[in-house]
Amino acid sequence: KTATEVVEEPPKMTFAKEVLLEEAKKSLSQSKNVSLVVIGHVDAGKSTLMGRLLYELGRLDEKTRTANERGSSKIGKSSFSWAWNLDGTLEERERGITMDIATRSLSTPKRNITVLDAPGHKDFVPNMISGASQADCALLVVDASMGEFEAGFERGGQTREHLILVRSLGVSQVIVAINKLDQVNWDRIRYDDIVSQLKPFLLQSGFQASNTNFVPIGAMLGVNLVNREDEEASLLNAWYHGPTLVDLLDTLVPPTRNLMAPLRIPISNVFKGQSAGTAVTGRVCGGVVQVGERLRVLPGDETAIVKSIEVEEQDVPWVAAGSNATLYLTSIDPVHLNVGTVLCPPDNVVPLASSFKARIIVFDIVIPITAGASIELFHHSRDVSAAVSKLLATRDRANGKILKISPRMLSKGMSADVEITIRSLSQNAPPRAIPLETFAVNKDMGRVLLRRNGETVAAGVSPTYNV
Ligand code: GDP
Repeated sequence: KTATEVVEEPPKMTFAKEVLLEEAKKSLSQSKNVSLVVIGHVDAGKSTLMGRLLYELGRLDEKTRTANERGSSKIGKSSFSWAWNLDGTLEERERGITMDIATRSLSTPKRNITVLDAPGHKDFVPNMISGASQADCALLVVDASMGEFEAGFERGGQTREHLILVRSLGVSQVIVAINKLDQVNWDRIRYDDIVSQLKPFLLQSGFQASNTNFVPIGAMLGVNLVNREDEEASLLNAWYHGPTLVDLLDTLVPPTRNLMAPLRIPISNVFKGQSAGTAVTGRVCGGVVQVGERLRVLPGDETAIVKSIEVEEQDVPWVAAGSNATLYLTSIDPVHLNVGTVLCPPDNVVPLASSFKARIIVFDIVIPITAGASIELFHHSRDVSAAVSKLLATRDRANGKILKISPRMLSKGMSADVEITIRSLSQNAPPRAIPLETFAVNKDMGRVLLRRNGETVAAGVSPTYNV
C-alpha cells in the first residue's frame, strides 16, 4: 500500500480559560441577541408574517420575492407567496434534508433575533417543544377573523396548548400579534375583545402582565409590522397609536446567561457526513466553549474536538450560554452523535439517570394519571418512552405544602411529586439512562414535559435523583 492517509491536525485552543470567560462576559454584557419561537394555531398566519417581516426588514430582495410569487402562484396558492419564502429555506434545500424547525435571523434596529419557526399542526407539537426549549421569547400569532380566533382558542385549538407549553419550558416574554384585522375591517371592538379574552389566560398560565404585549397587525398587507405609513393602515391609524411589531421586538430583553455554570450543549440536530466533519446544532445551556476544545459526548465514553463554531451563519472563535450554535466536530465517529446527546467538559460531566423524581403540574386532561402510566418524556432536545413509576405526593400549587402522600391518581390542575423511569429499549435490555441535570443546578437542563397519545399531560422540573 502506497497511499498514506492524510490526518488533519485538530485546531488548537486560542484562549486560556479565564481569558475566555472575561471575553464572553464583556461581549455578552452588550448583547443584542434574543431567540424567538413563533407559535399559534395552524393558519393563523405565522409563515406569512415571518416572510413579510423579513421582506420589510430588507432581508428578502425584490427579485426573490417576485420569483417566489411566481413559483407559488404556479401551484395555485398565490396567497401563500409570503409563506413560500419561509418554508423550504435555502439551508434545507442545500443540505437535502428537512429540518424539524426552520431557523432564520432577523435584525431589528436594536435586536438580532434568531427565529425558531414552529409548525402549528397538532402532530408537530414535539417539534415545537424542541423549538421552544431553545427560545428566550415567544411571538403568538392569532387570527382575528370571525370564528377563527374562537376555533384556535377553544379546547383542542393550539393557542392555549402552545402558550402553556412555552411557559413551562421557561419562556417568560410573549408578544401577541393579532393578525388578519383586514378581515374584520380593522374593527377596534374585535381587537379589544380578543385582548380581553387572552389576557386572563396568559396570567393564569404564569406570564407576568409586564412581560406580555399585544399588537394589531395585518401580516399579508404588511400593516403595523415596521410602520403604519401605507394607505392600508388608515383604518387602524384612526384608533391605534401604540407600538408596531418591530417596536415591541426591539424591547425584548436578552436572557441572563449562565456563564459560570459548566458547559452543557444538548444536541437538537445532527448533519452527518459533511466534508467539514460532523455538524451538530443546539442551544448552549451553560458555560462557554471554544474552537479546539475536547468535549465529552454523553451518554457513552467518547470525546470529540471542536473544529469550528458557527452562530447565525458566521464563524466564531467561541460561543457562550444562551446562544444557539452549530459546532463542527472531529475525532469522533458520527454514530455517537444523536438528537438528545449532551456535549460537556470531560472533567465535569452531566449525571445520567434512568429514574428520577420530578415535580409536575398536570394539564387539562380527561383521563387521570395513575402509577405505572406510560408516557413520552420530553427533556431538552430528546424524547424517550418512560413511565410515571410512582405517585409520591400531591402538593398545594400555591405554597408547595404536601397535601397527600401516595395519591392513587393525578387529575387536572394538580401539582405533584412523581418518580419517572425511562423504559429500556427491549424487555431484557438493561435500564436506559439519559443525561439529566436537576433544575436547581441548571434551569435549561432540568425541565421535563410528559405527553400521552399525542397530548401534553404535564410539565415539570426534576428536583432530585433516585440513585
Ligand atoms: P400558518 O399556518 O400560521 O403559518 O399560516 P400561513 O402563513 O400559512 O397563513 C394561512 C393563510 O392565512 C394563508 O392563506 C395566508 O395568505 C392567510 N393570511 C395570513 N396573513 C393574513 C392577513 O393579514 N390577512 C388575510 N386576509 N389573510 C392572511
